[in-house]
Amino acid sequence: MLKIDNLHASVAGKQILKGLTLDVKPGEVHAIMGPNGAGKSTLGNILAGREGYEVTEGSVAFEGKPLLDLEPEERAAAGLFLAFQYPVEIPGVNNTYFLRAALNAQRKARGQEELDSMQFLKLVREKLAVLHLKDELLHRGVNEGFSGGEKKRNEIFQLAVLEPKLAILDETDSGLDIDALKTVADGVNALRSPDRAFVVITHYQRLLEHIKPDVVHVLAEGRIVESGGPELALELEQHGYAWLKDRVAPEA
Ligand code: ADP
Ligand code: MG
Ligand code: MG
Repeated sequence: MLKIDNLHASVAGKQILKGLTLDVKPGEVHAIMGPNGAGKSTLGNILAGREGYEVTEGSVAFEGKPLLDLEPEERAAAGLFLAFQYPVEIPGVNNTYFLRAALNAQRKARGQEELDSMQFLKLVREKLAVLHLKDELLHRGVNEGFSGGEKKRNEIFQLAVLEPKLAILDETDSGLDIDALKTVADGVNALRSPDRAFVVITHYQRLLEHIKPDVVHVLAEGRIVESGGPELALELEQHGYAWLKDRVAPEA
């Protein structure tokens, strides 16, 4: 589903990713952990198509097609969801209205019919039920004055409505409390399916207590230096990232 091969990328002339390789299959949940500054968010931003990142070598394929040539909207239409694509506050723009516009843009690009407000409302009700969410966030401005936890709930809600094939979540906010982490974990668990994959970028072993990833990767110095099962996250928790230093081979 997602195949990243030998990805090298730089930001502001500085080499950040140095040969990152990753293979995600349908139905799988991958966690990417790693020390601060390793390049985790850089990876997310490149997959999202954010400006300012220069890919100097390597490739990314999504369902067999080159991803990096696509505009961010085309990536969404292809079935890619990046949580941090929509974290912006848009005061005065109703959250539900915004999400319907995003969904319909995606459907239109796929040649599907747009949903009218009744159809959309029905979808929203279904998704709220699946996620056990209340509808309190729907009528507010997009992320307007949302707490960290509310933003997380909204992110998961967006994910549920947009029904992507691959969702990439970058849990960067170190201020997240247990409830917010649990919202993310419960949402991911509820939305797991054999044809949907997740890449969860996280600094927290805690998050992985609630999401059972199929594969855990450690990203350090711009590459995946170690991959394993959920036990790898526990080892990191116990020994810290310094433990890895001895195990990372010098750059080829
Ligand atoms: P992580 O998410 O793993 O903590 P990042 O991908 O955010 O790491 O950052 C990796 C490195 O790239 C850091 O050294 C950071 O300072 C640098 N970096 C990231 N974005 C930019 C940018 N826009 N301009 C300059 N340097 C950046
Ligand atoms: Mg960071
Ligand atoms: Mg980061």
